[in-house]
Amino acid sequence: KRRPRRSTQGATRGGGGLDSRGRAPASARLSACDTMREAEGSDVMPEPAPCIITVAITGSLPRKENNPAVPITIAEQVESTQAAFEAGATLAHLHVRNDDQTSSSDPAKFARLKEGLERHCPGMILQFSTGGRSGAGKERGAMLALKPDMASLATGSCNFPTRVYENAPDLVDWLAAEMLAHGVKPEIEAFDLSMIFKAVEMERAGKIKGPLHVQFVMGVKNAMPVDRATFEFYIATLKRLAPEATWTGAAIGRDQLTLNRWALELGGHCRTGLEDNVRWDKDRLAPSNAALVGRVAELCAEYGRRPATVAEARALLHLQPAA
Ligand code: MG
Repeated sequence: KRRPRRSTQGATRGGGGLDSRGRAPASARLSACDTMREAEGSDVMPEPAPCIITVAITGSLPRKENNPAVPITIAEQVESTQAAFEAGATLAHLHVRNDDQTSSSDPAKFARLKEGLERHCPGMILQFSTGGRSGAGKERGAMLALKPDMASLATGSCNFPTRVYENAPDLVDWLAAEMLAHGVKPEIEAFDLSMIFKAVEMERAGKIKGPLHVQFVMGVKNAMPVDRATFEFYIATLKRLAPEATWTGAAIGRDQLTLNRWALELGGHCRTGLEDNVRWDKDRLAPSNAALVGRVAELCAEYGRRPATVAEARALLHLQPAA
């Protein structure tokens, strides 16, 4: 006896739309764990749970000298993102660069990038970085008025390899207020546990519109290493404090793939890309952002998962359907 298979696609494709509270259809809101749990005790194979693959194409640090595939110009960024999109990425995390490869926070560059990606990657979720390496103070949020789908928001400070990653409380509040004003969903960048608590506090205070989406970032030297017990504790803490929250795992450097695997196993979403890791393995450079995305997309099946469609990714993150 076969039950009808849950169709997350049917619920979100073709303008399935949001309900009166602006939420995606219930069938699309279920997390990977819910889907797997429901299938327990049934003789029907569970529907593979969708995984949102984020591609962090450029970042503010890696340069052509580190890996010639790092896209620097807007044209290179659009081309690299489109290939990654076709390989299964549904969310692009974006920084912009100057012609000399140094990092920039110029809203005009972000505007050109957004325009190119909207044309070549229809429906892909665009997330601008407000990270601290690309500008100082409020410069970091000057592009939020362009209303990307999402923007990164670190909710605390920590040490980075050679500097302090400074996110003072008043700047965090200002960035969050700008995101709220422009309808931009934050992705909370959690470099340690306190940043998860801070995000929950901000959501409860109405400074962030929920449900939260949190990215657990590990492997940054002098911040949190890639540590399985801590990763599981992050997930458990987020579930306890914000049961509707979604999450992604991201590791910087050689353990990128390890964290991709853990995230797939534990029901979360994955981030990959040359921003975080320019290598394919210990001997070779990664050929492209698309190659890194393709490897995660292929890995999904090993964990009973599959890459999310654009419509599914938007529904899972409670974003508007693609125009
Ligand atoms: Mg970044």
